[in-house]
Amino acid sequence: MLIDLHTHTTASDGLLAPAALVQAAHAAGIELLAITDHDAIDAYATLPAPPPGLTLVGGIELSTAYNGSGVHVVGLNLALHSDALAQALATQREARSARAERIAERLHKRGIAGALAGAARHADTAAIGRPHFAAYLVEIGACVDAEAAFRKYLARDLAPAAAWPPLPTIVGWIRDAGGVAVLAHPGKYGLTRKRLDELTGAFRAAGGEALEVVSGLQRPDVTRDLASLAERHGLALSAGSDFHQPGQAWAALGRLAPLPVTGRRVWELWQ
Ligand code: AMP
Ligand code: MN
Ligand code: MN
Ligand code: MN
Repeated sequence: MLIDLHTHTTASDGLLAPAALVQAAHAAGIELLAITDHDAIDAYATLPAPPPGLTLVGGIELSTAYNGSGVHVVGLNLALHSDALAQALATQREARSARAERIAERLHKRGIAGALAGAARHADTAAIGRPHFAAYLVEIGACVDAEAAFRKYLARDLAPAAAWPPLPTIVGWIRDAGGVAVLAHPGKYGLTRKRLDELTGAFRAAGGEALEVVSGLQRPDVTRDLASLAERHGLALSAGSDFHQPGQAWAALGRLAPLPVTGRRVWELWQ
């Protein structure tokens, strides 16, 4: 079964509108799809019924702070109209908007004017994220591309602990909404093995149930390492591309390194 349980749309920092994403996923042969926009579920509000053969599960990617760093938790199979999720969305939207102001102030001090309005324009109806600031920095010629904008202006000193709620709060919201919490792209936090093991333990203790052992295309040894981490902590296995836009070969829809042959699949937790 071809799956993709981590994708973005224009409801956060993705480039495809929700309906276009579902269409592209169907064309790619995906049978089980989750749209997991950053701190938002608006994509689901505008979607027609999925085409035959494609099952869509309610999803989100929530931002949290762990030990002063930003960490992402994917929530899957959520009840999209629950009170818990409504509270999560309101809190995260407020946090994003306050953070956007802080980022704009910092950019202003570094000689970049108009960043808040510029980022808001790129975000359109979505809440502002760092990629929208990156798009503005590229637009005004301050940086050659988003990668450079992150390196120079957006990667460091974002004080995630001041912006995002702690891990137990985030995982609690997902569980209260009837969902399964998945620790997203564990290889992308730049943590040592020991620190990643601690994070995974804290995630499990907070009620987390799965680990995203496959994030797009990755080397087999990476999958093996993460699968053994999942097994040590009694977590199920999840996989997703983290698709944001066409043309990124390492994060294309449904193009995933294979899951290990053994180990409980995350969708078995709700099927
Ligand atoms: P935010 O949710 O506002 O903190 O923005 C995080 C998003 O920025 C991630 O989900 C990626 O889509 C994007 N991102 C993070 N690091 C980079 C980078 N180095 N270059 C380009 N995009 C990045
Ligand atoms: Mn993103
Ligand atoms: Mn993420
Ligand atoms: Mn993502």
